Amino acid sequence: MASYEPDNIFAKILKGEIPCHKLYEDDDTLAFLDIMPRTEGHTLVITKEQAPDLFGITPQGLGKLMAVVQALAPKIKTAVGADGVLIQQFNGAAAGQTVFHLHVHILPIKDGVALGPQEGGMAEPDDLAMTAEKIRTSL
Ligand code: 5GP
Repeated sequence: MASYEPDNIFAKILKGEIPCHKLYEDDDTLAFLDIMPRTEGHTLVITKEQAPDLFGITPQGLGKLMAVVQALAPKIKTAVGADGVLIQQFNGAAAGQTVFHLHVHILPIKDGVALGPQEGGMAEPDDLAMTAEKIRTSL
């Protein structure tokens, strides 16, 4: 099983050491906008367990994480005017994982609009702030 590095970037976000555009938080999960969005409203839902990937979390924690994904995804889709939602989750560098703290991607998809590349560049902070505000008002 992969080991957990307690100073990874999402652990720092959880500790409040690095800012994020927060959309939702409860005792077990935190949801915030991806800093390099592949679509408008690209959201990450992370567990508060120290789990590097899908295989390091308790079944209970996984259930809570996915329940938040299930609850947020349709609201985010509506908020940004998307037509569908892609849910993605990577395990291991070979599979495309770059941050080794378990997270699930919510990617609202609009008809005819191609998904941007992974790590396609940082969004403008003002654009992220506007998107976050638009989503928060619909949660
Ligand atoms: P992975 O490929 O590991 O599933 O995805 C990690 C995601 O985290 C990427 O989509 C990347 O853009 C995002 N990311 C990396 N660093 C930060 C950060 O400091 N803040 C935020 N909000 N997202 C980040």
